[in-house]
Amino acid sequence: MSECIFCEIAAGRSPASVEYEDERVVAFQDIYPKAPLHILVIPKKHISSVADLEEADADLVSHMVFVAKKLAEQRHLAGYKLIFNVGKEGGQIIFHLHLHLLGGWEKPAGEI
Ligand code: 5GP
Ligand code: ZN
Repeated sequence: MSECIFCEIAAGRSPASVEYEDERVVAFQDIYPKAPLHILVIPKKHISSVADLEEADADLVSHMVFVAKKLAEQRHLAGYKLIFNVGKEGGQIIFHLHLHLLGGWEKPAGEI
């Protein structure tokens, strides 16, 4: 059993409401949604944070953004937020890289 909950979800060993999966990433619903639609896109490979990204991860991160964009389009979201929290001070709680896709508000969401 991995100590990382998102590695466990990526491996299918912990339950999650999976919205999309391919060989590199998994997207699933956030357990405590902060918006009407709140999906997390994670790499299957364990990377702790944006702070630990290497040049070689550039394609993977780009793929995460495109997966989020496609999920938003499929759901006909007029607008949405894509957020990486980086480090404890940046509000990161789970140290497995994840991109938040937030949307579905009835009125413009405004700034953070
Ligand atoms: P962070 O603050 O690290 O950027 O965001 C972590 C997110 O993961 C939070 O929005 C939190 O609700 C979500 N989360 C934490 N544990 C779990 C879990 O076990 N399953 C799911 N689906 N989401 C989780
Ligand atoms: Zn992990």
